[in-house]
Amino acid sequence: MSRATIVIQRTSDSEEATGALAAGLASVLASGDVLALEGDLGAGKTTFVRALAGALGVDTSLVSSPTFVFVNEYPIPPAARNALAGGRITHVDAYRLTSEEDLDALGWDRLFDHHSRQAATDSVALIEWPRRIAKALPDECAWIEIAAAGPSRRQITLRLPGSWESRPRLEWLRDREPTKCRVTGRWVSPTSATYPFIDERARDADMYQWFTGGYKTSREIKPTDEENV
Ligand code: ADP
Ligand code: MG
Repeated sequence: MSRATIVIQRTSDSEEATGALAAGLASVLASGDVLALEGDLGAGKTTFVRALAGALGVDTSLVSSPTFVFVNEYPIPPAARNALAGGRITHVDAYRLTSEEDLDALGWDRLFDHHSRQAATDSVALIEWPRRIAKALPDECAWIEIAAAGPSRRQITLRLPGSWESRPRLEWLRDREPTKCRVTGRWVSPTSATYPFIDERARDADMYQWFTGGYKTSREIKPTDEENV
């Protein structure tokens, strides 16, 4: 029996906030996952892939829209602290494909396992313009929809297979939002172990602020305050 799709909706007001969500998604992925990215030109599909890859230790300067080459592959360094370490990301842009037959010529077989219809076993696949190759997609795909709602505002919807429910950190991805670290001002992934801080140093610095009175109420407490209680 298939479980209900997990739907996660977020609003992002900056590229960095989108990146923090992408990093959260990166941390729940497993080999063989296929992610379909929908959205108009300029919505932020490639930006999302870049941040996701970066969160897995990939050199983000390698990540560009593969519109003209159709597919890019990025190795995930073995040192990455993730189940995918040592594998690779397959980044597909199907914008220019006119038919599913084109896929054979492009080596689709090498990228995807025919039987499971998943990405090859050491790979996670991210596909821009997936509807152009709808028939070649596996039954169990994660769908990421990005819609522009202003110059730097995006509505992002993640639709994840119900079978992902039991994955580590999925609950954090679902229940928490990316947030700005109040010490460094940088965006924090919802699945970070140091959430809502960017790292342990920021968390320690924050605690230090509290103990030394660095955080104060916005004005002095006046004796009359008590009367208002
Ligand atoms: P696509 O691959 O969907 O065509 P790109 O990722 O190449 O889109 O481009 C998205 C553009 O939108 C980038 O220039 C990025 O900086 C910009 N942008 C502005 N605000 C956001 C946001 N909140 N999230 C993601 N991208 C944003
Ligand atoms: Mg793109």
